[in-house]
Amino acid sequence: MSRIYNFSAGPSMLPVEVLEQCAAEMLDYNGSGMSVMEMSHRSPVYDAIIKETEADFRKLMNIPDNYKVLFLQGGASTQFAAVPLNLMKTGKADYVVSGQFSKKAFKEAQKYGDAKCIASSEDRTFAYIPEITPDMVREDADYVHVCYNNTIFGTKFPQVPNVGDKVLVADMSSCITSEPVDVTKFGVIYAGAQKNMAPAGLTVVIIREDLLGTEKEFTPVMLSYKEMAENDSMYNTPPCYAIYVAGLVYKWALKNGGLEEMKKRNEEKAALLYDYIDSSKLFKATADKKYRSMMNVCFVTGDADLDKKFCKEAEAAGLSNLKGHRSVGGMRASIYNAMPREGVEALVAFMKKFEAENA
Ligand SMILES: *Cc1c(COP(=O)(O)O)cnc(C)c1O
Repeated sequence: MSRIYNFSAGPSMLPVEVLEQCAAEMLDYNGSGMSVMEMSHRSPVYDAIIKETEADFRKLMNIPDNYKVLFLQGGASTQFAAVPLNLMKTGKADYVVSGQFSKKAFKEAQKYGDAKCIASSEDRTFAYIPEITPDMVREDADYVHVCYNNTIFGTKFPQVPNVGDKVLVADMSSCITSEPVDVTKFGVIYAGAQKNMAPAGLTVVIIREDLLGTEKEFTPVMLSYKEMAENDSMYNTPPCYAIYVAGLVYKWALKNGGLEEMKKRNEEKAALLYDYIDSSKLFKATADKKYRSMMNVCFVTGDADLDKKFCKEAEAAGLSNLKGHRSVGGMRASIYNAMPREGVEALVAFMKKFEAENA
C-alpha cells in the first residue's frame, strides 16, 4: 500500500486512523455481524452511532444546548435553497458575495424573495473579504448570509462579521472544525462534510432552536429544518455510513486535542506554505494577506503553461490534486485537518526544487 498526499479541495483526505478503523469494522461492526452500510437506520445499534456522533460533534464544536444539529443530504448547495426557504419571513435577506459559492447562494435565494447583495469582492476576483458593518444590513432583513471560507479563492473572514442583531448564516463547508468558532454568534452554520469531516453525502446544519418553524408553506418537507429537527434527522434514511465516518473523525479530532490543537496545527501548516510562497520569486499567493485561508492555499506562477507543468510534475511526485479550481486556474493546495504536516513539508520541498529548475 502506498498513500499519496492528496491536496484535493473535496472530497479530500481523511485521517489514516479513521480509514483503518473503517476497514477493521467493515464486515462486522462491533459484534453486530454486519457492516454499518448494511444496517437499518432505525436499529438500536445504528441509533447509538448517530447519537454518539452528535454528542462528539457538540463536544468538539462546543455547541450550546439551544442549538439543533441536523445530519442531512444534498450537499451545501441544497442549503443555498433551504436557508431562504426556512428563514425568509419578511421575504428579505442580505448576502455577502465573497466567492463563487456565496454567489450561487445569493442567486438561489433570489428565487424565493428579495435577496440583496450588500457587499462583494468580485471587483478584484474575490482576492479579499469585503468589510461588513451593521449599517449595511437592511433593517427588515431576516438574515445575513456569508461564506466563511472561500474554497475556490482561498480567503477567509478574519473575524465573525458584525451584523448587529441580525441572524448570521454561514456556509462553513471548507473550514468547519479547522479551529474553534463561537457558535452563539451564528443563527445557522452549515457545511458539506466532504471537505473536513467525512466522505461525500452528508451535510451538517447547526441551527438555533428559535429559528425553527418559519419555513414557507411550499418548502419541501426534506428541506424543512423543523421537520428534520423534530425527526432527529430521520424523517427518511439519513446518509448512514457518512455519519458513522464523521463520528470517527470527531473522535479523532477530540483525541488529538480538539479544535484548539487543530487550529495550532493548521496555522503551522499554512504558515509553512505561505512563508515559502512569500519568499519565492516564482510563486505568488493570490489572496490578500489579511484574508488568507488556512485551509485552501491558492498560488500561481503567472504563466499558465508553467502552472500546468508544475501540477503535472507534482502529481508524478505523489503530490496530488494541486490544480486550481477550473474557474480560476493556477494552483490550490487544500490542507484540511487530515493533511499531515509532512505533506505540506513535502510540497514546499517540491516547490523549492521546481523553482530552482525553472528559474
Ligand atoms: C464545496 C463547497 C460547496 C458545495 O458543496 P456541495 O456539498 O458540493 O454542494 C459550497 N460551499 C462551500 C464553501 C464549499 O467549499
